[in-house]
Amino acid sequence: MTHPAPSADGARVLADLNALRAIGAYKAGVHRPTFSEAHLASLQWLVARLPEAGLTGAIDGIGNVLSTSAKPGPKLLAGSHLESQNYAGWLDGPLGVIYALEAARVLNNDPAIMGSVEVAAWCDEEGHFGHFLGSRSYAGSVTEADIDAAADRTSGRSMRAALQAAGLAGVARVQCERGRHIGYLEAHIEQGRTLESERLKIGVVTSIVGIWQYRITFSGEQNHAGTTRMDERKDAGLALAQFCVAIDARFPKLCGPRTVWTTGRITLDPGAPSIIPGRAEMLFQIRDADVAVVARLEQALHAMAGEVNGQGRCSVTVDCIRKGTPALMDDRFQQAIEAASASLASGKSLRMPSGAGHDAQVLATIMPAGMLFVPSIGGISHHWTENTADEDIVTGARVFVDTCRRLLASSTAGR
Ligand SMILES: [Zn+2]
Repeated sequence: MTHPAPSADGARVLADLNALRAIGAYKAGVHRPTFSEAHLASLQWLVARLPEAGLTGAIDGIGNVLSTSAKPGPKLLAGSHLESQNYAGWLDGPLGVIYALEAARVLNNDPAIMGSVEVAAWCDEEGHFGHFLGSRSYAGSVTEADIDAAADRTSGRSMRAALQAAGLAGVARVQCERGRHIGYLEAHIEQGRTLESERLKIGVVTSIVGIWQYRITFSGEQNHAGTTRMDERKDAGLALAQFCVAIDARFPKLCGPRTVWTTGRITLDPGAPSIIPGRAEMLFQIRDADVAVVARLEQALHAMAGEVNGQGRCSVTVDCIRKGTPALMDDRFQQAIEAASASLASGKSLRMPSGAGHDAQVLATIMPAGMLFVPSIGGISHHWTENTADEDIVTGARVFVDTCRRLLASSTAGR
């Protein structure tokens, strides 16, 4: 190689991440829910950094930070999110935003590099007001009515009121200009322990799971717990418990190698020990990267409900309340991440699916997308103890910047 490839400045990346950690600091993590003062301050912080990377940017009408470069050549979109879960970690989101900013600073300012990186911070990836409202707005799939209906799951404050308070009411929402970008690249902490346990440094995401969520409702007969004999009962709570056990018996025969399913909140009505519950409800979620697998499991849920209904004691209904499409990451992006890992992380990378949802799955519906993971210490996230070793953060940044460089270069070469 005649000219060394430009590289990430590890100290600058760590300093930026720590600067963001100080905005809404909570113990070792942050409390920066969507549209909180701290969240808005973090967005403004990012906007103020953009000129260093040769970018012009602003906060749009849904709280996304979006930026543009005037440099000729191919453009790569990169980013993540700046809000956090309540009282959560400092890296979930900011890591990907700072890597994107660093890539833009290094590559956009280098005249030897054709093209540029445009930085984005997607609003509300953590779902305080909805599901991926920021990136879905950019992709053109959020209506004004969706915004009218959105409210903060913790405080109940409407999204309209939050936008008004943030000074964003009436500000236009920026939508994707089709064909502008060669694709979207996002980095994130793994939020699991696969990389750590295998002593690897970089996860090359192959796909992002789809999440299907259900409300399963059982109807029986509410009656006196002391005078109703066991054989006469139509106990909706018992039917629910049996259904949970039946799922765990049946799903393993139908699922894929990485399918997961989880029962959420269970409510018994009326839920007093002296009254047989006449109604019971459970929230239930399935995650898998393969639609066919989840469709098979959904069919099983309906079949099992049919069997319960056939017994005539209690009735069951299964309602799907959320259907997230799994997203495949672009193969060229996976290869670029692998090549960068081979050169800067001793090849310690692994192709793996993402069990968590990310904005990249939304962006993948409108352009080629890729994701890379860095190790999470102990696999912990959505908690203020979430952390990644500084050394791994720096390695990830170098691999990220080099991946961007490779993608821009291969895009130019292909023209
Ligand atoms: Zn995240």
